Amino acid sequence: NNFLTLPPSFPSLPSQCTWLSPRRWLNLQEYQSKKLMQESGVAVQRFYVADTASEALEAAKRLNAKEIVLKAQILAGGRGKGVFDSGLKGGVHLTKDPAVVGELANKMLGFNLTTKQTPKDGVKVKTVMVAEALDISRETYFAILMDRSCNGPVMVGSPQGGMDIEEVAASTPELIFKEAIDIFEGVRDDQALRMAANLGFKGPLQRQAADQIKRLYDLFLKVDATQVEVNPLGETPEGQVVCFDAKINFDDNAEFRQKAVFAMDDMTESDPTEMQAAKWDLKYIGLDGNIACFVNGAGLAMATCDIIDLHGGKPANFLDLGGGVKERQVYEAFKLLTADPKVGTNC
Ligand code: ADP
Ligand code: MG
Repeated sequence: NNFLTLPPSFPSLPSQCTWLSPRRWLNLQEYQSKKLMQESGVAVQRFYVADTASEALEAAKRLNAKEIVLKAQILAGGRGKGVFDSGLKGGVHLTKDPAVVGELANKMLGFNLTTKQTPKDGVKVKTVMVAEALDISRETYFAILMDRSCNGPVMVGSPQGGMDIEEVAASTPELIFKEAIDIFEGVRDDQALRMAANLGFKGPLQRQAADQIKRLYDLFLKVDATQVEVNPLGETPEGQVVCFDAKINFDDNAEFRQKAVFAMDDMTESDPTEMQAAKWDLKYIGLDGNIACFVNGAGLAMATCDIIDLHGGKPANFLDLGGGVKERQVYEAFKLLTADPKVGTNC
């Protein structure tokens, strides 16, 4: 198993990177990803979404479930162990009482949730998911992603999934299983069953998990995903295999044929400067230094950032103006750079 070849989205790599890298792969909220999963016949629980505490309360009543799970919706993972600036601990809560859902939603909505994958001030929660909770007897990790070293998709799985998968990958890499998928053949039955067995599913659960794996791969292809990650892929005491969490990234090059998927992007967590830059067709990525870079061509822009770094400076941004840039774009680019309060200061 060679994890260094996996893309930076894999959880064993430092997650801060994702906040500085270009918005190349569309990322959707958990509830949006689960909607797509449902449509592909993947097992997820019944859920509603809410933007206010009273809506969350109503949703909890309407669910009419034995137990309810309330989940803050932000694009970063690690929510279960996150903290809100309202003082509330945990972005995922289980309760049997709908009234408690209302109270908890009140301490989530409008507050920032900080997890080990967010910037230190956290991300403001605007939506919560109210779902049916189930007892989970075992949590496994399963993902399908594009892997350069295999020139195509691979399945990655571990029998020890859940909130500490990064730790499992770091300390017991032998518990991480990898299986390359032939893009022409798809996931073969023997591969799906072997992965299910490696995930620790026994008896009839092995077949059930293999079916879920195949459906997840069908979805991966159908929506032009670069990653489908389910952590946990859980097992219930009643013998069901269920996807409890969902993270799907999409290939931005496929936007032209995935209009419905890309229409779900609400941009609420996008960097405003990067969005403004994209409007003018400029490739801009904010960095944390104080020297602005204004360059024609991505290669030269990267080399310029490297040279600044080599001489002990820190670039404030990466900006590729591109080849056919017009006067107005240059003007907008200068505006973006000079609006950055870090530019020109001593840091
Ligand atoms: P994150 O990965 O951002 O921490 P998860 O969706 O994985 O968020 O939730 C964290 C944990 O909460 C899961 O590992 C699981 O133990 C529990 N959990 C999540 N959804 C449910 C659910 N529907 N029923 C019961 N437990 C759940
Ligand atoms: Mg999770």
